[in-house]
Amino acid sequence: MSNIRGKVVAITGASSGIGEAAARLLAERGAKVVLGARRTERLETIVRELRARDREAVHQRLDVTARGDVESFVRFACQSFGRVDVLINNAGIMPLSPLEQRHVDEWDRMIDVNIKGVLYGIAAALPRMKEQGGGHFINVSSIAAHRVVHTAAVYSATKFAVNAISEGLRQEGGETIRVTVISPGPTTSELPNTISDPATKAFVEQYRKAILPAEAIARAIAFAVEQPADVDVNEIIVRPTAQG
Ligand code: NDP
Repeated sequence: MSNIRGKVVAITGASSGIGEAAARLLAERGAKVVLGARRTERLETIVRELRARDREAVHQRLDVTARGDVESFVRFACQSFGRVDVLINNAGIMPLSPLEQRHVDEWDRMIDVNIKGVLYGIAAALPRMKEQGGGHFINVSSIAAHRVVHTAAVYSATKFAVNAISEGLRQEGGETIRVTVISPGPTTSELPNTISDPATKAFVEQYRKAILPAEAIARAIAFAVEQPADVDVNEIIVRPTAQG
């Protein structure tokens, strides 16, 4: 039997891209999925489509920069399905630009969503997972946590932070908490829409010539989820084959 069937999986940033693909794949494989993001009309559509296929799915509006929202999202997962087995901290933004342009508001937003959003997720779900005897955090990082490229200093910094937080959580998690970092290369999604600087947008389009479908990352996530409870997949890096 699949280790995915029956698991309660809460996913932040499930309204598009990787989060949406993960929600759809895990639901197809029998997970009970809980979708969170700000664009609730998108979530509604995905949940309706999944339910029409007899999959178990619910959604709640979520802004990961608001700690109360994240607490309420995890509570909602537990109220809906009785527990939370997996929290996928996936919500993220990538408004890249050179440091000298001083887009300080965008730096703040990246820190709030990409770092604090993950920390709020851990704060909300860790006590419940401990109480219920185990759980699994899947934190979506990036190859940007391995290599800094032009215009990506702050974005990379947030993803380096996600890796550090994940490793700390793994060490503190004891025998029952699993922690997986997923590090995608360029993947089809709406992420580049968060770039406001036109020159950076053009540079990134060039860089993202070889690109993965979001389903490829969803399959990597499913691989980590489906391992037996005593197997903790710590990191998966997925790049397009054509990326040098
Ligand atoms: P998308 O832009 O398609 O998805 C991002 C998701 O995050 C959306 O569902 C969005 O929903 C959500 N989100 C953004 N801000 C918030 C917020 N404040 N509160 C709650 N949800 C929020 O991009 P991806 O699917 O690519 O991004 C998913 C993750 O993958 C990110 O962490 C990203 O850094 C990472 N990643 C992506 C790569 C790529 O090439 N695509 C490569 C490496 C890593 P909404 O706007 O409705 O709130």
